[in-house]
Amino acid sequence: MSHTAYIGLGGNLQDPQDHLAQGFDELSALPQSRLTGRSRLYRSAPMGYLDQPDFVNAVARISTALEPEALLDALLAIEVRHGRRREFPNAPRTLDLDILMYDMVQMATARLTVPHPRMGSRAFVLYPLQELAPGLVIPGQGAVSALLAQCADQRVTPLEGDEP
Ligand code: ADP
Ligand code: MG
Repeated sequence: MSHTAYIGLGGNLQDPQDHLAQGFDELSALPQSRLTGRSRLYRSAPMGYLDQPDFVNAVARISTALEPEALLDALLAIEVRHGRRREFPNAPRTLDLDILMYDMVQMATARLTVPHPRMGSRAFVLYPLQELAPGLVIPGQGAVSALLAQCADQRVTPLEGDEP
């Protein structure tokens, strides 16, 4: 049984474009999965903790037979390979991989909340998601286009020269 999942990628350390490019490759190599779409790369201003470099962000779509928790484990393993360290909330990072959506599933366990609870207020997620899936509705949060209109003040721009 295959499922459609959207994965958010982000990073702001040690050549983030490189980490994201490798991240896409590693997503396409996940077991029982294939990469079915990717957005352009976007540059965004840090949120929460502001004294750090701009982020590079993107969204991937995969088709996968992995269940949500197994997918999360696989994503955390990729983060570890990229030397990701968890120091404090919103800290700079080499590569962050979040499960944004998993089909139309709504779930919350100690380790995993889907859809990602903060995705609807983050322009750096919504812009690439809209590019990849126009018309998408996030269960419990609303239409991506309507949510985007509410965070138009956040600075997010496509990276020049990046073509999918
Ligand atoms: P953030 O992405 O918010 O900056 P982290 O990447 O440090 O924070 O994630 C911390 C934890 O969040 C992960 O270990 C994971 O268990 C949990 N988590 C809950 N929901 C999700 C989700 N949808 N995608 C990824 N991680 C999630
Ligand atoms: Mg994360």
